[in-house]
Parts: sequence; C-alpha cells; structure tokens
Amino acid sequence: MMRAAGLQRYQRLPVAPGVLHDTVRALGAAGFHGANVTIPHKEAALAIADTASDAAREIGAANTLTFGDDGSIAAENTDAPGLLAALGGTPPATALVLGAGGSARAVVWALTHAGTAVSVWNRTPQRARALGVPVVQRPVPAELLVNCTSVGLDRSSTDFKDLALDADGLSEYTTVVDLVYGAGGTSLIQQAAERGLHTVDGLEILVSQGALSFTLWTGLPAPLQTMRAAVEDKASQPRVPRAHPHQVPDRRSADPGS
Ligand code: NAP
Repeated sequence: MMRAAGLQRYQRLPVAPGVLHDTVRALGAAGFHGANVTIPHKEAALAIADTASDAAREIGAANTLTFGDDGSIAAENTDAPGLLAALGGTPPATALVLGAGGSARAVVWALTHAGTAVSVWNRTPQRARALGVPVVQRPVPAELLVNCTSVGLDRSSTDFKDLALDADGLSEYTTVVDLVYGAGGTSLIQQAAERGLHTVDGLEILVSQGALSFTLWTGLPAPLQTMRAAVEDKASQPRVPRAHPHQVPDRRSADPGS
C-alpha cells in the first residue's frame, strides 16, 4: 500500500520486544523518516517517543512514529482519526464497540471525542471497564456497530456466536464496521451488506489510517484509490505465514516523487 503510494523503500522490519527501544532509536540515524508500528509494540512505541499527540497519549498507544533530523521521535495514533475518516460524514449519535483490546481503545477514544455515545461489549467484561464507557452484557442496538475483536479472522463463523450476535439482529444497526480484514470481507460484513446496511470493511480502515501516516510524513494528500487497490490486490493473494509485520518507510523515498 505504501509502496504503491510512492514510498518505494517502505519495508517490513520484524523487531523483538527486547530490542525495540534500541532499534527505534537507531532508525532515524540510519536514514529512515518514520515507522508504522503494530502489535505488540504500540504501547512501547509511545513510551520511547520524545513527544506525542493528544490522541496517542490519551489512547496510550502509537502506530506512527516520525524521526526528526535532530534525533527526536514524535508519536501519533492514526488508528483513531482513520476510523472517523473511513466513516465519513457526521459521526453517529450512538455506537456499540465489540472488544476491549488495543484497537477498541482507539475506536472508543475516536468516537467519544467525536461526540458519539459509546457502549462496549467484550467477552471478558472486566477488561472492558477500563475503557471508561458503559459496558453491556450483550450487544445492544445502536446507529453504528464496530467489531474490534479478532473474531472473523479465521472466516469460519457465520452466526457470530463468539460475539453474542445473530445475523438477523444486525438490522438494529445502520452502519457496520469490521476492523478484521480479508479479501471479500468477513462474514459480519457480508451479512450486514446482505441486509442493506452501510458497511466499512477492515481494508478501508487500514487504508484510512495508512493514508494519515503518509500525509504526516510527506505533507501530501494520500492517493487513496491507489492504496486501496494495492491492499485489495494483496488481500486476494494466498496468505504466507510470517513473523511480526513491522513496516518502516525509508527517508530516502519519503518524497513520493522520488
Ligand atoms: P487485541 O488487543 O488482542 O484484542 C482482541 C480482542 O478480541 C479482545 O477484546 C478479545 O476479548 C477479543 N476476542 C478474541 N478472541 C475472541 C473470541 N473468540 N470471542 C470473543 N472475543 C474475542 O487485538 P486488537 O489490536 O484490538 O485487534 C483486534 C482485531 O482488529 C485484529 O483482528 C486486528 O487484526 C484488527 N485490526 C485491524 C486494523 C485495521 O487497520 N483494519 C487495525 C487494528 C486492528 P478478550 O478481552 O475477552 O480476550
């Protein structure tokens, strides 16, 4: 996606947690302009950075680092605004978020800051209480439903029983977002689309947060169509198992024209 957008030297860099600090500190001097950070390093990346945006600090995690010429590291979280950008238009009045992990934290932060009344359902309710919004025992109707659990990754479930949802109950929502992604969409997205609901799939969320990182590093508007096409192309290819997918854009190619 980032290479298609023009960051030709964007590359995956697997990093073991024990060497994250030293690796991140060395990247700027090694000529890198920034880094996207993913599981399990988002919290640690925030702690390493010298400065952080309000979003990153309040969410407690960073997915985008920018290296300054003076060796400084700035942390940002584009997962949160990425969700709002992918939703477009006026934020919903009410939302139900499924899950209480790292992505749920960013989604809850984004929606509550946009003025949405958010409830959370999680398999482990104790974990959900830390999010600071009402926790529900079972999915409740809302304008927006956002799946922030990893259910759907294996594409085996069609009745969403792990989410305490049934397909017919989806009509209680206007828009359904699934952060989980794969070619053709998850069963949740497929069932929601079959019922005529507005859907936003995980690929769109991925493109949306990536586009904000791109603009942060380059100062240019992101080529959304190109990025989406690249992501869809990749998603349609057979999956090759791999270790930690940490991607790092190279300063030498930060200018998409280069
Ligand atoms: P995480 O921190 O590990 O949280 C996982 C969540 O899933 C927890 O709430 C967990 O519930 C729940 N869960 C896992 N297995 C479950 C099951 N069988 N039944 C019910 N709940 C289950 O993960 P994360 O970082 O939030 O990511 C969640 C998903 O979003 C992943 O699939 C990830 O790939 C995707 N994601 C996509 C994007 C994007 O750009 N599209 C961005 C971020 C994440 P418990 O608390 O009960 O364990």
